[in-house]
Amino acid sequence: MEPISPASETYPPVQEEVARLAGTPQVRAAFDRFRAQESQFALWQMEATRLAAPPFGEATRAAWLADRFRELGLSDVQVDEVGNVFGVRPGYGSRYVALSAHIDTVFPAATPLNIRQQGSRLYGPGVSDNGAGIAAMLALASVLASARIAHALPYVFIGNVGEEGEGDLRGMRHVFATPHWRDAIAYSVIVDGAGADTIVAEALGSRRFEVIVRGPGGHSWSDFGAPNPIIALSRTIEAFSQTPVPTTPKTTFNVGVIRGGTSVNSIPESASMRVDLRSTSMSEIDRLERALRTALEHAVAAENRAPAQRGTRRPPLVQSEVVEIGNRPAGELAQDARLLKVIRAVDVQLGNSAQVQRASTDANIPLSLGREAIAIGGGGSGGGAHTLQEWFDCNGRDLGLRRILLTMLTLSGVSE
Ligand SMILES: [Zn+2]
Repeated sequence: MEPISPASETYPPVQEEVARLAGTPQVRAAFDRFRAQESQFALWQMEATRLAAPPFGEATRAAWLADRFRELGLSDVQVDEVGNVFGVRPGYGSRYVALSAHIDTVFPAATPLNIRQQGSRLYGPGVSDNGAGIAAMLALASVLASARIAHALPYVFIGNVGEEGEGDLRGMRHVFATPHWRDAIAYSVIVDGAGADTIVAEALGSRRFEVIVRGPGGHSWSDFGAPNPIIALSRTIEAFSQTPVPTTPKTTFNVGVIRGGTSVNSIPESASMRVDLRSTSMSEIDRLERALRTALEHAVAAENRAPAQRGTRRPPLVQSEVVEIGNRPAGELAQDARLLKVIRAVDVQLGNSAQVQRASTDANIPLSLGREAIAIGGGGSGGGAHTLQEWFDCNGRDLGLRRILLTMLTLSGVSE
């Protein structure tokens, strides 16, 4: 994390443009509407959150969102083949500013969704992550329509699937694998969770593997000497865990789960582990992956020589498999990127203090492709993300919404 330097010191032209936009009657009217319509935003947030949206099960929530997009007058509303919901506010030119929020949650389909409101607080699983993002996206679409702001570049609103866990960013990955959107989206503003105090501009990359070693198994006494998958896996961990990693770019590895064997007097038929590699640098992740594969190859080869060493003549039978179970690409926004200048200038204009952070979000995908993207909060405050005690406080939501609006208008330009 680094503190934000006041944008006024560094980027006067952007700062002046943000100040000019913030002073126009239409934008002031929009700011007022953010306050006046708060109860509607909270209702949308609760409605969305009451529809279960587990990984790979977002269709009901997607259909609900598409209906809201149509009601709010967005054009070309559609759900793509992986379940992402799109709606467009036309402008001029072929390059878009994208405003997106992931619609999936970490909660399995059977999780009771007891979503309720007490005063300014909303409670329930997913209400903040990413009920806050969905509400912010709808708030923006609603206020842009009623305040009649003529932005120059068109906007595309995207409720995307697959951000959490095993979703592995599949929704955003698909958006940027679609030739039309990959080429058309100039800037991505991603709303994830509550708050207005962060700017995720650095994408933490990760790659995850399940490593499986299989062998013939056998009796611990009568089959002694047969190659043992647990021993091969242990040797892999022993060798791999000695791989040096740099502090800059920060790079980490973890063996988080290990399984194998059935009883103390059986030579196991299989053993497996789950490994997590992370870095802000893709080449460091590649290097760690090579180290893991090399350690595994050597360990398997050593275990396949073991029968001879143990005085038996069994053929070498241990085999290994590496299955990739997650892959989130790394990347970062350049220091001189326009999007970074704009959000910093907006924060100065609004008297908001925010810090640049590194995280794994939907922004990983555009950032890894060299596109300008940030992930920010939808305003208000929240806590307990990924737990049943999750909450969101609507107080101060309008600051987050003003921040998003000014950022988008500055990026797109406004027609006079
Ligand atoms: Zn989220």
